[in-house]
Amino acid sequence: MKIAVVEGDGIGKEVIPAAIDVLDALALPLEKVPVELGYGKWERTGYAITDDDLETLKECDCILFGAITTPSDPAYKSVLLTIRKELDMYANIRPIKPIHGIMGVTGRNDFNLVIVRENTEGMYSGIEEIHEDVAYTKRVITRKGSARIADYACKLAKSRQHRLEIVHKSNVLKSDRLFLDVCRETASSHHVEYHDTLVDSMAYNLIVHPNRYDVIVTTNLFGDILSDMAAALVGGLGLVPSANIGKEHAFFEPVHGSAPDIAGKGIANPIAAILSMKMMLEWYELTEQAKVVQDAIEYTMNKKMVTSDLGGKATTKEVGEAIADRVRQLIG
Ligand code: ATP
Repeated sequence: MKIAVVEGDGIGKEVIPAAIDVLDALALPLEKVPVELGYGKWERTGYAITDDDLETLKECDCILFGAITTPSDPAYKSVLLTIRKELDMYANIRPIKPIHGIMGVTGRNDFNLVIVRENTEGMYSGIEEIHEDVAYTKRVITRKGSARIADYACKLAKSRQHRLEIVHKSNVLKSDRLFLDVCRETASSHHVEYHDTLVDSMAYNLIVHPNRYDVIVTTNLFGDILSDMAAALVGGLGLVPSANIGKEHAFFEPVHGSAPDIAGKGIANPIAAILSMKMMLEWYELTEQAKVVQDAIEYTMNKKMVTSDLGGKATTKEVGEAIADRVRQLIG
């Protein structure tokens, strides 16, 4: 097991060390390769990510990633988009599952869903033109891209409750007619029960009826927006992990960004980063260890050892150490 560890910028430098404390507590035989990427590196060297960095990332099985600040400077090359493209990480997976004892904005915890977002095309195709009075972004949907994300979502649904919700805007966007057709064909071939919803209706239903859904598959921008919205269901951005999966590599990161407003204060919630590390363990099929991490998180949160976003007084480091201690107790 060879893992690239990218702390990145802002609170990434605080939440990733906490996740590493918990990973270390599992005492697994693994190699960690620290890689510096991001805005801080760009300010210092003029490069946010170099070809050598990409080579190092490719030599590792996967990446545990904090967060990166993306400035609006057009000269800045987006690190996340570069990595997703170079390592062809086509599926972005965001589980939306309540943590025992923590309530989100709706005050309910009777749901357990996963958002599967296509990660390489759609509105983030990068094909854009900006003129003085008009700007264009080309929304690219391909049969191949739609089929592989639908295939991933169907396989995931088969390992869960066999239900797939296809989210689109095919009444307006021709590109989404292709996405919807391909998703339907793929779901039929997998014998997965499916249903489809327009994205605007989904935005409402996700908040009002989150318990209706099992696996949601959608295009890049819709998935980006819906998954941040869904974070509110479980208690905020500090709690939601994600995985970017490709054929050969994977990349695990909290859904939140670098949060410059709280960076350096030691108050960032490390749970999203620790849960991202847990998704990494699942990717390695270390199911028992992943369960130990989940149990340790719930135990620690039930003891009210939580950061200020959840009404507690603990620091990022204290939460990480408490979870790591519990992991050591559980594995004896
Ligand atoms: P970026 O520009 O890197 O996306 P951002 O501040 O615009 O950063 P987020 O980092 O996603 O976006 O944060 C939005 C807000 O949510 C932050 O201002 C912060 O108050 C809160 N937040 C995000 N992550 C956490 C966390 N782990 N713990 C506590 N609060 C958080």
